[in-house]
Amino acid sequence: MSKHGDIKVFMSNQDNKCEDCGREIEQGEFIQLYSNKVYCLTCADLDHLVFLPSGDTALTRRARKNSNLSAIVLKFIKHRKRNERQGVLVELDALEKAEQECAADAGEREIARAKANARRLKQDKKYIQDFATHIRKIFPKCPEGREYNIAEHACEKYSGRVGRSAQAKEFSPDAVEFAVVAHIRHAETKYDEYLMDGYSRETAREMIRDEIDKVVCQWTAG
Ligand SMILES: [Zn+2]
Repeated sequence: MSKHGDIKVFMSNQDNKCEDCGREIEQGEFIQLYSNKVYCLTCADLDHLVFLPSGDTALTRRARKNSNLSAIVLKFIKHRKRNERQGVLVELDALEKAEQECAADAGEREIARAKANARRLKQDKKYIQDFATHIRKIFPKCPEGREYNIAEHACEKYSGRVGRSAQAKEFSPDAVEFAVVAHIRHAETKYDEYLMDGYSRETAREMIRDEIDKVVCQWTAG
């Protein structure tokens, strides 16, 4: 990236005409915009660059780094009302060099990815173990092993479920109970059946309230 920011090129959403050379520009062609005027890439002095679509982060980063001149390619997506990045324009030499670099250390990058994965798995395992221990403490009569099912489900990554919330991270009794009740609702009551029968969530929850209370009592004390 230059100190003046990225050079921007757009994928044309409509037929246009170059302000400088007067050439007809077809929809889908790359254009440059200057003060609301449209220029073809030849007039923009960018037509020697090649298009690299988004997708391979390492390749893109390296191709841009190797390129003396590069531009980012944007497209205005009408229904989202914003420009979205489609890729980059880079020098052919730079792209070829980047491809060689990526091929050369593909193995290393694969290993680094695997290590990061293993690290995350280990953290998750510890998290689930801790969560399960808390469940067992608050619900000592919970069926054996069930605390792990609940903890796993609650901790599922990126799912935005209770286990990942800040509250659950502190393993507060409220968060633990919330996760356990959610489990009981699906595993120990007719909640899912009621939903399938077309009852609203609100009504279904009302219908199973006593069942939930009963199971919570059973699991809590002797
Ligand atoms: Zn032109």
